[in-house]
Amino acid sequence: MLTNPRLCGYRTYHGEILLDDEGQPVIGDWEPINTVEEWEAVCAVVAERKRKVPGRSVARKYLLSGIARCGLCHAKLRGQVNRRWKPGSSGARFSYQCSVVNGGCGKVGRVGEAVDEFIISLVLAEQRQRAASTAAEAVETWPKASELAEVEADLAELTQAVRAKKITVSTLLQLLPDLERRRDELKLERGRFTKGRQELESLSAGIGDDFRALPIERQQALILHSLSAVLIHPAGRGNRKFDPNLIEPVWR
Ligand SMILES: [Zn+2]
Repeated sequence: MLTNPRLCGYRTYHGEILLDDEGQPVIGDWEPINTVEEWEAVCAVVAERKRKVPGRSVARKYLLSGIARCGLCHAKLRGQVNRRWKPGSSGARFSYQCSVVNGGCGKVGRVGEAVDEFIISLVLAEQRQRAASTAAEAVETWPKASELAEVEADLAELTQAVRAKKITVSTLLQLLPDLERRRDELKLERGRFTKGRQELESLSAGIGDDFRALPIERQQALILHSLSAVLIHPAGRGNRKFDPNLIEPVWR
């Protein structure tokens, strides 16, 4: 309550400071309780107090906590429940907010679900593509194919030589075991190689199917595998429709 921007006269929309066309806060027509400086000072004290109680810093409840940042001041955005949301009602359950309490400018916020969905789809598409190209690189190129061909050619040549009476059967039987062992080893290796490749392919096909079912920490780890941050740019006044162009993924 103490950090509510309305206390210093700023108009808000869904908890976000409303900005005019120049990016300046829109001032409401009520009597402010604090000056902007006082309000900022209160926010600073609250922020300071939060830092001193580390145990209370909440577990990461929102997918992009620690990942989403303000496009204006680059502070980390925090997830904030929409108190007006009720089961069955449309609209956002939560939003990501740049918060003065966290040392940010407090000027940027966005509906949470829409940002989450957008980022998940981008990251999954990227990871699918990456897995597919890794799999494609592996295709065809078992590195020892020519060695196996040579061993098999040698074996065929020996049998041929016996038939042509160039070598005796006993010579053949001396030479055969080593070559056969080498051939079997190589075939086994080729089998393992093919199996690995198939696993890689099915992995890439399966990415995304169960993403939502993973614990949030795993989802975050997967996102951080592709992205170092997500910048949320200010939407401006009256822009109520979610605009993916204002969400900027920062790829690794
Ligand atoms: Zn900010």
